[in-house]
Amino acid sequence: MHKKHIFSGILLCVAFLILCMNASAAPRIQKTKDPIILVLDPGHGGENNGTEEGAYLEKDMNLLTAQVMAEELRKYDGIKVYLTREDDTDLSLKDRAKVAADLNADFLVSIHYNASESHALFGAEAWISLIPEYHAQGYQLATCFLREYRDMGVFIRGVKTRRHSKGNDYYGVIRESVTLGVPALIVEHCHVDHPLDQEFCDSEEDWKLFGKADALAVAKYFGLKSKSLGEDHTEDAQDLPEVTKNQLVPRAMQDLTEPLYCHITLIDAKYEEDLVSVYLTGEDPDSNLIYYSVSFDGGETFGSGIPLPGGDILTGEMPDSFRIDIEVPDKSTPRLALRVYNPYDLDCISNVLTFDQMFQKPVPTLEATKEIREVQVDPEPEAPSPEADKKAKLFKVIGIACIATGVLLFFIILFTLLLPRKKKED
Ligand SMILES: [Zn+2]
Repeated sequence: MHKKHIFSGILLCVAFLILCMNASAAPRIQKTKDPIILVLDPGHGGENNGTEEGAYLEKDMNLLTAQVMAEELRKYDGIKVYLTREDDTDLSLKDRAKVAADLNADFLVSIHYNASESHALFGAEAWISLIPEYHAQGYQLATCFLREYRDMGVFIRGVKTRRHSKGNDYYGVIRESVTLGVPALIVEHCHVDHPLDQEFCDSEEDWKLFGKADALAVAKYFGLKSKSLGEDHTEDAQDLPEVTKNQLVPRAMQDLTEPLYCHITLIDAKYEEDLVSVYLTGEDPDSNLIYYSVSFDGGETFGSGIPLPGGDILTGEMPDSFRIDIEVPDKSTPRLALRVYNPYDLDCISNVLTFDQMFQKPVPTLEATKEIREVQVDPEPEAPSPEADKKAKLFKVIGIACIATGVLLFFIILFTLLLPRKKKED
């Protein structure tokens, strides 16, 4: 009897463990053709430059990334890759979708780089359809792209949807593709106009790196194998986020409301180190919070956005409160406020913390001042000014030239004296 209880207990534990393991990893829900047909759509082209906020034109960045992605994917078995444009020409969004529909594509992936009006946004994001079946497929593939970018160190803004006023998908290339029966998504690799993202996209090498990351994401989603690369991603296609074919993923839904709540409480103020630590508690029932920014004037002006630590927008996990360490301007008595942002860039400003003392790094003591003076009394030999340095060099050159001419003259005179004598000897 007792043994039976232990045995059933172990069985229950094993079943629970298996359930837990499966909760975060799910297989691909999309059924694919053989071979898989993938259409890559380098955004913009021709007169349509895309964003011009960075050092380059977006249309060129999109094309090179897509070309490298295609080249890389062609090393895998069981997939055929096409591009909507191979050169600097523009196509309507309908025509891009039509290319994919005519090829009977399994997916259309539209390749883009981003920029924001405020130049304050940074990070990568992906846009997917609102139509449930395409939404679920889009969510799984989009997650594969964003996982790769996260591994590269890019900040992740999440998988998102945007609704048109007519109720369907806002972004034309997605809307036109799904209308023709082709699952589609848009990847926005990063923001070309933000310093935190520029290191990932400011050279052709960077655009190629993104192309390779994109290819790897697709290989993992479809579970592709490559003999020439020696890679097998069969297992990866079982490790996708869990979605239901006919349900929209709540954390990918467009959030039209500001975060509900943002509050800060003081942990510690180090007045002599210009440091403040606070607990930030923020809540948005619809989305993860992604950035925060700091105000020292009670919320009138804010610094640039900083990633909120500890959350994972791809799984929806986020801590309830964050410890934030802030460097305060020296010789200031700040009125501290924080602001949090959701992935749709809507924000909420916290309460204001005031301080009864000025933040100030200690003034040097009498002893320290004495030491400084002593050092000043015995100054290091001054480095020559560039002007004097130039003159010294000039004199050196003239000196060497004089000596050389002297030596040359000496030999010439010597030869002229010796030569006639030699002739006489002949
Ligand atoms: Zn674009």
